[in-house]
Amino acid sequence: MPELPEVEVTRRGLAPHLIGQVISAVAVREPRLRWPIPRAVRGLAGRTVRSLRRRGKYLLVDCGDGHLILHLGMSGSLRLVPPGTPAGKHDHFDLVLGERCLRLRDPRRFGAVLWTDQDVDAHPLIAHLGIEPLSPALTAARLHKLSRGLRSPAKQFLMDAKRIVGVGNIYASESLFRAGIDPRKRAGRISLAEAQKLVIAIKATLRAAIKAGGSSLRDFVGSDGVSGYFQNRVLVYDRAGMPCRRCRTPIKRIVQGARATYYCPRCQS
Ligand code: ZN
Repeated sequence: MPELPEVEVTRRGLAPHLIGQVISAVAVREPRLRWPIPRAVRGLAGRTVRSLRRRGKYLLVDCGDGHLILHLGMSGSLRLVPPGTPAGKHDHFDLVLGERCLRLRDPRRFGAVLWTDQDVDAHPLIAHLGIEPLSPALTAARLHKLSRGLRSPAKQFLMDAKRIVGVGNIYASESLFRAGIDPRKRAGRISLAEAQKLVIAIKATLRAAIKAGGSSLRDFVGSDGVSGYFQNRVLVYDRAGMPCRRCRTPIKRIVQGARATYYCPRCQS
């Protein structure tokens, strides 16, 4: 499933090809994605793309009088192909911009293509999203404050998108290991010093994943086989029973909120 780093890599890859370009045509081959693609999307030709932002795992394409909201769902990818390239079975949506065609492929159809002509940051899918982990606004003091009074485990706190958006399952385990914090520790008991380590760890983990993705980019932009590129570099994720990379203690796997968590019982206590 595309996570924040994959979406950010996609954004960085696409931005130079989209910004300033005029939309010349739109093709909707299958409107039944997670939500139906609204009719307004078919009428976007003639607009100029002003900017391409990311909020959580949503890509926001500013078209001047409104925003296209894109989400890759479970299996979506965006790539640039020459206009006229035959569409495959799962290529549901195209945005043609002169010499380039932005194509959404989404076999499982949990992705989204939506449109709003209102304030996009107030859109129901966007408004409730928590703080961006890579923004300067995420500081130790802010994270510490967000966690006060919470009885939930640190791991689940990190994955609560209403507080901090986009720290997915892999990255939550990785960040807690880097910070030396037990994933089962009650979030409300994270000290300010630990919050400091955790903020540094979250940013470093996500930046490393983005860098790994960025370096794997060639002419394309996309996130097929997404998590692949970060897998070689993981510290604890999916390494149950294998020796900790720091202390050689076997990595443990537990389940929290129906998701697997990996940690080193020695380094994270
Ligand atoms: Zn260890």
